[in-house]
Amino acid sequence: MARKPKAPPRIGFVSLGCPKALVDSERILTRLRAEGYEVSPSYEGADLVVVNTCGFIDAAVLESLDAIGEALDRNGKVVVTGCLGARRETILERHPTVLGVTGPQAYAEVMETVHAHAPKPHDPYLDLVPAQGIRLTPRHYAYLKISEGCNHRCSFCIIPSLRGDLASRGIEEVMQEAERLVKAGVRELLVISQDTSAYGADLRYRTEFWQGQPLQTRFLDLARALGGLGAWVRLHYVYPYPHVDDVIPLMAAGQVLPYLDIPFQHASPRILRLMRRPAHAEDTLARIRRWRETCPDLTLRSTFITGFPGETEADFQMLLDWLEEAQLDRVGCFTYSPVAGAAANELPDPVEPEVAEERQARFMEAAARISAAKLAAKIGRRMRVLVDEVGPGGAVARGPGDAPEIDGVVRIAEPGAGKPGDFLDVVITGSDAYDLEAMRS
Ligand code: SF4
Repeated sequence: MARKPKAPPRIGFVSLGCPKALVDSERILTRLRAEGYEVSPSYEGADLVVVNTCGFIDAAVLESLDAIGEALDRNGKVVVTGCLGARRETILERHPTVLGVTGPQAYAEVMETVHAHAPKPHDPYLDLVPAQGIRLTPRHYAYLKISEGCNHRCSFCIIPSLRGDLASRGIEEVMQEAERLVKAGVRELLVISQDTSAYGADLRYRTEFWQGQPLQTRFLDLARALGGLGAWVRLHYVYPYPHVDDVIPLMAAGQVLPYLDIPFQHASPRILRLMRRPAHAEDTLARIRRWRETCPDLTLRSTFITGFPGETEADFQMLLDWLEEAQLDRVGCFTYSPVAGAAANELPDPVEPEVAEERQARFMEAAARISAAKLAAKIGRRMRVLVDEVGPGGAVARGPGDAPEIDGVVRIAEPGAGKPGDFLDVVITGSDAYDLEAMRS
């Protein structure tokens, strides 16, 4: 009698943190599926739970510790990985019964711990893993992580101590992954790393071959090659270095989305110096002006911090004036929050939390006004959008200026207006502070 195959072990998975952590989760899930494990949607149905943690700010540390606690209460067998995993003692102090703790990108170690506590299934009839791997984002867009770590040492950030120095993936491997994703139906590639503009510097811009063509492992070659795949290409976490100028003509020519996500964080030279920000001495306003001359449709997104230690009202006013001048399209703003282990904690002159919050509110008021005016100016224009969701009343889509999750949307109040992953040509009919309305053209 044929032996009934044993049910494969089921692994629960909790993924916290930024898009970079999400990519790590996708890699681990892909390996688990490749080895025949099943993914459990509940704690109770799992043989073991992997928690991919975030350790960026104190709130994320608490969230991660709570998530580990919840997984322990409801399942009991928990493997911890991710950024907070680099701070092993913090985890073990609060949760001494976890099965294993590893830092970010420790795929092999996570798999070893899983093997030890939920042995690999021996069934030869393994589920075939789709060529593009397991992704946690909707099918039509995907994050493409091009490097790990960072060579900068911003004083408020502990990512380099958690993730190490810049380690770029070779351009051939990145292009192969991007091509697989596009072949599998991905319509938008979101390029991420800690510093996308530094891509390849650690590999001395090594030349590799893709489709028989030599390509250098560098930002411009990558943007150009990705632009040839036929999907939208969106660049995140770029710094305003002079060599970034070279990518703007690709945007003007429609090869890469006219969108740059540049975390400026501040505009006062004194505060930027205290923050030890990359490119802090660049004349960013002049650079932005030139970029817009080349590519008038360029959308600039950024994030800022108010209340950094030592920020005076004059520094903040400089930031507000800079924003008025820069006319950024998409802006996020956080109040400074000290991160355990960050150099900025030693800086004198901390800013009272109420003052930081009041500045944040003033900053966001100005940003919302600028955004509303910029979006209103799009009324009457034609735009190509990508549909994310469809409901009975119509579709929610995004235009070239809208990254998923963080920016606005384009609402199309027409039932039956396409399905997720469709490109539609629309005319913009209305706007508010962050979103657009449109109808099919
Ligand atoms: S650029 Fe600065 S903020 Fe960004 S990861 Fe590197 S050190 Fe951290």
